[in-house]
Amino acid sequence: MNRKAIPARATHRIATDASVIFERHVRAEGLKSSQVRLGLVRAIAAMAGHFTAEMLQARLMRRGSVSKATLYRTLAMMQDCKLLVSHDFGGGALYFESALNQPHHDHMYCLGCGAISEFTSRGIEALQARIAAEAEFELTAHSHKLYGYCAPCARRAHKRTSEVEPGRRSG
Ligand SMILES: [Zn+2]
Ligand SMILES: [Zn+2]
Repeated sequence: MNRKAIPARATHRIATDASVIFERHVRAEGLKSSQVRLGLVRAIAAMAGHFTAEMLQARLMRRGSVSKATLYRTLAMMQDCKLLVSHDFGGGALYFESALNQPHHDHMYCLGCGAISEFTSRGIEALQARIAAEAEFELTAHSHKLYGYCAPCARRAHKRTSEVEPGRRSG
């Protein structure tokens, strides 16, 4: 949830684009949609940042109840029509993020608090294109995940070790 909030007008446009893409997908696949589902699609597509299904359910709860089955099915359908991207950071829960109107970016994941931050590096993008080209590998996508500790978590950890240090020496 680290990304800056999307301006209201842009949010509305994203929600509208998402519903158009979703309805096209539903028709093409002969699936069923509903007002509830479409409302969910609009809300989820316009959400900023990275969220798990559970975080999403907690947030949506404030707007009225949504069944877990409906939510999970909607998330799967949104992934199928590429409205949502999912990331597995290995912590057990899958993170989603809206795929609309977002430039490509990669992620840093804090092993302490689970904070997710984004980065883009032209250097890395260019380097991997060159590596792939040299290997005659046709690159279609990539995902970089950096694991470690965010600044507050790293500071806390350092504080803890410096507090332990004197005790160790005297004992
Ligand atoms: Zn952290
Ligand atoms: Zn992201």
